[in-house]
Amino acid sequence: MRITLLGTGSPIPDARRAGPSTLVTADGLTLLIDCGRGVLMRLVAAGVLPPMLDGLLITHLHSDHITDLGDVITTRWVMSPVARPLTVVGPSGIRDVVDHTLASLAPDVRYRIDHHDDLTEGPSVTAVEVEPGDTFEMGSATIRVGATDHRPVEPTVAFRVEVGDRSVVMGGDGVPCAGLDELCRDADAYVQTVIRDDLVKLVPVQRLQDILDYHSTVAQAAQTAARNGVGTLLLTHYVPGMQPGQEDEWRAFATPHFSGPIVLGDDLTAVDL
Ligand SMILES: [Zn+2]
Ligand SMILES: [Zn+2]
Repeated sequence: MRITLLGTGSPIPDARRAGPSTLVTADGLTLLIDCGRGVLMRLVAAGVLPPMLDGLLITHLHSDHITDLGDVITTRWVMSPVARPLTVVGPSGIRDVVDHTLASLAPDVRYRIDHHDDLTEGPSVTAVEVEPGDTFEMGSATIRVGATDHRPVEPTVAFRVEVGDRSVVMGGDGVPCAGLDELCRDADAYVQTVIRDDLVKLVPVQRLQDILDYHSTVAQAAQTAARNGVGTLLLTHYVPGMQPGQEDEWRAFATPHFSGPIVLGDDLTAVDL
C-alpha cells in the first residue's frame, strides 16, 4: 500500500501546496480522499488519471476538502472512452453537494454532448452517504467509517482503508476523540490534518483564532497515534503552511509523544507500507 499526500495545504492559498487531498493505492485499489484545490495536478503527478480512480471519499463538506469536486467529475467523464461511473462517499449532505455540483456543470455537459458524437450521456456520479460504524467495499479495500470531532462542523467522518493486511486511517479535520481512537487502533498508518497552535496564536486575527478549537495540533495528532498503537504518523493540511526547512521544527512537537516514524513533507510525499 502506498499513501501519497497529494495536497498538504489548507484553505489559505499557497503557491507550493495544493488543497487537502490524499491518494491511497494498493493492489487493486486507487482511492482519492478529499479533493481540495489543485487535486488533479497532483494526481497526475502521482501517475494517476481521473478515470483510474475506484472512488472518492470525502471526510467532510468544508470547502477546502471539496473545492475541485467539479474538476474530478468532469475530467473523469471526458477522459473515459466508455462511461465510467464515479462513486463519491461522504457524510450526510454529500448527496446535495454532488447534485448541486452536477447542476453547476450542466451547461458544460450540454456543450460537450452537442459537440462530441461519441458522448451521449453526462457524467454518472453516485453519492453514498455514510455514518460512523458503517463498513463498505471499494476496489480491493474494506473501508470502515468512524466519527471525528470537528464541531461545530457536523457531520464529519474518518475512514479506515484496509487492503490485505495493511491499513491506513484518514483522520480528516478535528480534535482527538473516542471515535477516531477506535478507528486508529493498531493501524499501520494514520494521516491527520494539523495546525501549529503556537504560531496561529501569534496572529491577531479573530477568524484565524477561531480555528484553534476544532483542529488537532501536531502534539495531539502524535498523542492519538501513540495511544492507539499506530505504525506511522503522516501529518498534512499544515496551518500555517510549513516553510522549506521547517520539517524538523514541526516534527519536534510530535516526537515527545510518539516514537514511531513521523512523516511531514511537501505535496507528493509518499509512504509505502
Ligand atoms: Zn474542516
Ligand atoms: Zn480543512
